[in-house]
Amino acid sequence: MTDCLFCKIIAGRVPSKKVYEDDKTFAFEDINPQAPTHVLIIPRKHVVDIKEAKEEDAELIGYCHLVAAKIARQRGIENGYRTVYNVGPGAGQSVFHLHLHLLGGRKLAWPPG
Ligand code: 5GP
Ligand code: ZN
Repeated sequence: MTDCLFCKIIAGRVPSKKVYEDDKTFAFEDINPQAPTHVLIIPRKHVVDIKEAKEEDAELIGYCHLVAAKIARQRGIENGYRTVYNVGPGAGQSVFHLHLHLLGGRKLAWPPG
């Protein structure tokens, strides 16, 4: 997807602060952090969002959570962090390439706003 911001970030055509990468995923610092740790974990494959995802994407959707857990452990926030897929504009989704938010490093209220 040439016109997708996150595909451009994966390709290095838009700069980002890389946190982690492997053959399936790429993770980087959110440009507008909502917590001391706010990392976005994205699949290299262009998937629009959870509701557009196919069964074949199920492993990838779950795998992003394992990457988040790895990053949380590295940062010492594994005792209290949150992973979020926003789905659709009504939930605040603004970029239409699947991305898992990893938030932590502060007290996280429940329910989220
Ligand atoms: P959404 O609102 O779609 O769930 O999350 C999109 C996230 O991407 C937002 O938290 C926003 O701050 C972040 N974001 C948008 N544009 C950029 C960018 O160019 N670089 C980085 N690093 N993050 C971005
Ligand atoms: Zn994309």
